Amino acid sequence: MSNEPTKILIADDDPAMLRMLAKWLEADGYQVLRAGDGRMAMELIEAERPRLLVTDWEMPNVNGLELCRWVRSQDLGHYLYTIFLTMRTESSELLKCLEAGADDFLKKPLDRNELLARIRSGSRVMELEQRLSRLAKTDAITGLATRRVLLDDLNREWNRSQRYHTPLSCVMIDIDFFKRVNDTHGHQAGDEILRRLGQVLQETVCGCEFLGRFGGEEFLVVLPETTEQQAIEWAEQMRIRIAEITVPVNGKNINVTASFGVAQRLADTATPETLIDMADQALAVAKRSGRDRVIAYCS
Ligand code: GH3
Ligand code: MG
Ligand code: MG
Ligand code: MG
Repeated sequence: MSNEPTKILIADDDPAMLRMLAKWLEADGYQVLRAGDGRMAMELIEAERPRLLVTDWEMPNVNGLELCRWVRSQDLGHYLYTIFLTMRTESSELLKCLEAGADDFLKKPLDRNELLARIRSGSRVMELEQRLSRLAKTDAITGLATRRVLLDDLNREWNRSQRYHTPLSCVMIDIDFFKRVNDTHGHQAGDEILRRLGQVLQETVCGCEFLGRFGGEEFLVVLPETTEQQAIEWAEQMRIRIAEITVPVNGKNINVTASFGVAQRLADTATPETLIDMADQALAVAKRSGRDRVIAYCS
């Protein structure tokens, strides 16, 4: 868990209320963002990605209910725990904020201890959410991105490549005869090799390239602004590096090789899935023609 303070956004059109809330929350160790109305709150949510939102109901421009409905309709990539501040206490009114997507509400005038207690309870929920989301995004053995994250990356790069007419390539990597490694040296040795290979791949990709464990013993690399020819060169270097790795297991040094399928997005490549399929087809040719080699879709 990171030690950064939890970011809380408070939205209220009453400056005195904003000041008081900020003072209470900052004294309790939170990082506080302030919005004077719902519209400003939306901007801060998109730009600053707070984890909790404490919002007034009545505000100009966009009110608390509208803000809350907007939050729930957005794909923010994380959950935003939302607490309503309200002077309305009839259950039909409170139902309205729950239906808009609120997690909790507090009655005005506010009690400091109650506010802090409810924020702490919200923080617990958010920590759990962050932990689960991290688990879902990270492969347990290699620590690399999972297939789902990688497909999101590919989709995003696909759109960028279409918009700016830049090349986009991907490389599918599959360890050769991996079943035999498991059969000969045991599953744990196999895991160790996956870990080591993931590490070497991670060291090789730069910040703008995307790498993940695509399946069992398959890795996928997304290379933005890269032609097929450049991707072949990248893969060829990687092939040589992998063949040089020795993984010590139970006093023995194990070597593996891998096969590579390379493909570039072409004008008639329909979808990101098609691109992956092209790389897969090239990989299949690499396997059929003897393994430990790089094959590109077009050549
Ligand atoms: P090829 O050269 O044709 O790719 O042969 P291969 O043996 O690598 O391919 P195959 O698809 O027959 O077998 C893949 C093996 O990968 C089988 C499976 O046990 C192993 N594997 C998949 N995931 C893991 C894992 O998480 N850990 C370990 N140790 N092995 C795994
Ligand atoms: Mg108000
Ligand atoms: Mg495979
Ligand atoms: Mg294999």
